[in-house]
Amino acid sequence: MNKNVDVCVIGAGPGGALLSSLLAKSGVSVALLEKQTMLGRAFRGEILNSDGIAVLKKHEVMSRLADGACLPLEHIEYWLNGKLVKMLLPDKSEGNVGIHVPQADLLDALIKEAEQYSNFTLHTGVTVSDLVQDAHGYYNGIFATDGKGDEVLLHSRVIVGADGRYSTVRRHANIPAMNRNHGYDLLWARIPAPSGWKPIIRSAIVDNQQLHLFTQARGYIQIGWNIEQDSYPKLRKQSFEPFITTLIQAFPDLEHQVRQYIKSWNDFVLLDIFSSQVDTWTKDGLVLIGDAAHTMTPTGAFGLNEALRDADWLANHLTEGLQRESLNVDCLKQLEQVRRHTVEELQQEQLMMEQNYKQNFYVG
Ligand SMILES: Cc1cc2nc3c(=O)[nH]c(=O)nc-3n(C[C@H](O)[C@H](O)[C@H](O)COP(=O)(O)OP(=O)(O)OC[C@H]3O[C@@H](n4cnc5c(N)ncnc54)[C@H](O)[C@@H]3O)c2cc1C
Repeated sequence: MNKNVDVCVIGAGPGGALLSSLLAKSGVSVALLEKQTMLGRAFRGEILNSDGIAVLKKHEVMSRLADGACLPLEHIEYWLNGKLVKMLLPDKSEGNVGIHVPQADLLDALIKEAEQYSNFTLHTGVTVSDLVQDAHGYYNGIFATDGKGDEVLLHSRVIVGADGRYSTVRRHANIPAMNRNHGYDLLWARIPAPSGWKPIIRSAIVDNQQLHLFTQARGYIQIGWNIEQDSYPKLRKQSFEPFITTLIQAFPDLEHQVRQYIKSWNDFVLLDIFSSQVDTWTKDGLVLIGDAAHTMTPTGAFGLNEALRDADWLANHLTEGLQRESLNVDCLKQLEQVRRHTVEELQQEQLMMEQNYKQNFYVG
């Protein structure tokens, strides 16, 4: 492949997929490059908050989701020593404490929309490995390798790095990222929900760490369990039984499901947790969005929603910018000016939420 487009988006996560579909709809030629061959299979943030919902409603994405893909969550429960101690009901105006949409369904709806336009192309199984610069140092293309090992060269007027927390685009553009550790890593697992299970979020404190259950659309529960940072290799050497018993003690009504579906350490997936801020979101015709620009921790489920908000803002302004004969790079810089403050405030909020987690369990 050797082609020219207006915008080359790297990474078909929520940020890159939404941006690509919006640009395609407004007539901009877009190539979306994704290293995975199947979209939406990795464990990722899947809970939409009111900000993410507003973006998706604005672009009529919610109404295009497949049947059963949308699960409004009714309330949050706080459990201590195997018992419910407190319940948090949703704001009346919102009617839910978040909406769960499986990542695969969200990406599918976004890609299907984009594929209606002949100016959009999706290239899966294509891993971007380097950037191309013109004589003035302006980024105007990428190098990648496709699934067969063949080289791909693509030129574009704008390059968007929507390639997540370990962004290759950011690295090759020499944009430094400052990572902050939060003192914990996270284990994820998924079990089928028992019959009669309500669409809720449940939280507990286990061995001084956070343990959460997130009900998912299509009858699943996702378990998110904080463990001490870097402790997983040591933990895995220990017997699994005492570990899983603490989960059962925290939520005794799930004993049957947990015993049936979580039998060993291999049923958990590890996520190393950090947040990051980068020196700049834009550089010489290149722009970063979502986790590539601002990795967030899972606390408060902001990461997915902020990636969608970046994409919404950028699509609007990029379309206008590209309509001009020569793209004014200031339009890219504005994304950072408008969004950085909000995102950094949310990153601060995540720190506060992590520090004050135990207060959720006080019964006043
Ligand atoms: C295991 C896990 C659990 C999470 N849990 C939560 C949660 O509960 N709540 C929440 O809000 N957030 C959570 N997050 C964070 C949330 O998923 C992210 O904030 C959100 O997905 C960011 O979207 P994005 O589009 O910026 O990037 P991503 O969703 O990370 O998408 C980046 C895409 O780029 C692709 N890519 C990377 N490098 C290349 C390359 N060189 N070439 C081509 N493609 C490439 C990747 O395959 C990926 O598809 C979690 C993240 C992870 C990893």
